[in-house]
Amino acid sequence: ARKFEGKVALVQGGSRGIGAAVVQKLASEGATVAFTYISSPAKADALVAQVQAVGGKALAIQADSSNADAVRQAVDATVEAFGRLDILVNNAGVLHLGALDDFKLEDFDRTIAVNVRSVFVATQAAARYLGEGGRIINIGSTNADRMPFEGGAVYAMSKSALVGLVKGLARDLGPRGITVNNVHPGPIDTDMNPADSDFASSLIGLMAVGRYGHASEVADFVAFLAGPDAGYITGGQHYIDGGFSA
Ligand code: NDP
Repeated sequence: ARKFEGKVALVQGGSRGIGAAVVQKLASEGATVAFTYISSPAKADALVAQVQAVGGKALAIQADSSNADAVRQAVDATVEAFGRLDILVNNAGVLHLGALDDFKLEDFDRTIAVNVRSVFVATQAAARYLGEGGRIINIGSTNADRMPFEGGAVYAMSKSALVGLVKGLARDLGPRGITVNNVHPGPIDTDMNPADSDFASSLIGLMAVGRYGHASEVADFVAFLAGPDAGYITGGQHYIDGGFSA
C-alpha cells in the first residue's frame, strides 16, 4: 500500500514552487491533498488536473494566508470535502527584501501575517481535527539561522519566529501523538528565487554543495517527516540547504 493511502493533507500555499512539489509528492504516495493559493487560479487548476491525471485527488482553495478567517475556512473546507485531516504543511510565504532606510511597515506587517501568523492560525484550526499520528510541517528558511546579505532582516526574523513557535507547539501537541517540525530550505529554484538570477550567483558560493536545490528535494524530505517513520521527530529544525548554514 502507498504510504499516505487514506490520509488527507492540507498545504497552505500549494499552487507553485515548493508547495506545489509537496502537493505532488504527497498525492503520488496516496494522500488526498487540499491546497490554498491566492493569485494563481490557473496554476492551481492545472495542478489539480495533474494530480487527477495520475489517479490522485486534489482540491484547490483560494484563501489569503494573511486573512485568519480565510485560513480557518480552508481548514474546515478540507475536512468537509474529505472527512478528516492528517497532515498540515504551512508553506505559504512572502519575501520582502529592502534597505533599512525605506523598508515599509506594511511589508513588515504582511511578512508577519503570511509567514508567521498564518502558521499559528492554521495550526490552531487544524489541531481540532488532527489525531494520533498527525503531522504539522512548516517551511521556514535557512535564513532563520544565517542571514548573509543586506536587506533580509524582516524575512529572517519571520522565519526564526517559527523556531520558537514549533518548540512550544511540539509541547502542546506531543501528548496527543502529533508532531510539529520546521523544514528550513536553502536557496531553491522557484519563482521566488530563480536559480538564474544575479542574486542567485551571489549565493552559490555560500553553499557547501555549490548549486541551488530543487523543490522536489524539499518535498521528499517533507514527505518523510509527514510519514509513519517520523513519529519520534518533533519540535525540530531540519535544514535542507546544501550546507548554506554550515
Ligand atoms: P513561490 O513564491 O514560488 O510560491 C509561493 C506559494 O505560496 C505560491 O503557491 C503562492 O500562491 C503561495 N502564497 C504566497 N502568499 C500567499 C498568501 N498570502 N496566501 C496563500 N498563498 C500564498 O515561493 P517558494 O516556493 O520559493 O517558497 C515557498 C516557501 O518556502 C516560502 O515560505 C518561502 O519563504 C520558503 N523558502 C523558499 C526558499 C527559496 O529559495 N525558494 C528558501 C527558503 C525558504 P499564488 O501562486 O497564488 O501566488
